[in-house]
Amino acid sequence: MNEIELRLGKILSLYYQVKGDRLPRQLDLLEDWFPGLIITVEEDTEKKAARYDDQDRHIHAQRSRGSLYLGDSSRVSQICGRLVGTARSNGEKERLSGEDIQKRIARELVSEEAKMLALLENTKKKLAALSEEQCDLLQDLFLDGTEALAEQESDRREPYPLEEETYQQLVYNAAYQLALLSEEGLYRAFLWLLLGSLLREQCGRLLRIYDSSFIPVRQQRSEDPTLSSKVDYLLHPEEYYSIYDGDDLEKRFPGIAWYCDECGAYLNEQEGFDDRKEVWVCQKCGHENPISMEEIYENEEDWQSGKEPLDPEDYRQAIEAAKKRK
Ligand SMILES: [Zn+2]
Repeated sequence: MNEIELRLGKILSLYYQVKGDRLPRQLDLLEDWFPGLIITVEEDTEKKAARYDDQDRHIHAQRSRGSLYLGDSSRVSQICGRLVGTARSNGEKERLSGEDIQKRIARELVSEEAKMLALLENTKKKLAALSEEQCDLLQDLFLDGTEALAEQESDRREPYPLEEETYQQLVYNAAYQLALLSEEGLYRAFLWLLLGSLLREQCGRLLRIYDSSFIPVRQQRSEDPTLSSKVDYLLHPEEYYSIYDGDDLEKRFPGIAWYCDECGAYLNEQEGFDDRKEVWVCQKCGHENPISMEEIYENEEDWQSGKEPLDPEDYRQAIEAAKKRK
């Protein structure tokens, strides 16, 4: 058996080996397994070479007779080579472009669950193209391979080194799913191996937000967080959710304390204050304070520093969850 490595080309070659097909060319391979995520397929009558766009961090390529056309673009070829894990030359520019693609994809898969679900569906569809015997064979190859990966240290070789912690969690997720010995387990394990080999260290973000079955497990923000979790929240707020445990659920904005934008007075305690009003005139200074979702900030500091207001969807879910607990 091929020695297993956490490289996209290696993992996918097991699939094609079992299926009895040749490994597709790089552009087709990437588009087949990560549709729309890496390559923007363009329809054009004029045949143009593939190109990488630094702005949208996508490769743009045209389909010609069923296959994506690379043309003479050595840049795209080098970037693909890095993502697939076969490139030998060490162009730093291409390595960085590949990293930009990895970061963009990780961000999209963390913040847009629908994209993750589409990817799962695609992997499932790919496995459905195999016979039952071929699936069993692939399951065995992956089981052996994952066991071998578990005995190795993470591969620190360039271009995209993996931290040991990310590596171990990835291999564990794949092993966990394979050990279920089920159809779902096989395609989920497969997808973890694909994501790990494509995204490398960037896959760490997915590991924090999805469990091995790709069910989102965003972390609840703790009351007394450690510095590392506080900083993690600052840098990756989308991986956290809010919780509301107060009991004023009849209000329009349960749990929200309103302060006057002008004099800082605590409005909730002013006589007759009602958060269903669109505007509340401060009884202390007369300033007209709008009362709406867009005016709600997590804390005074966020408001002062011009950060984004509270995410309405996150807030809504926290309130819904509190209502359900009642
Ligand atoms: Zn005021």
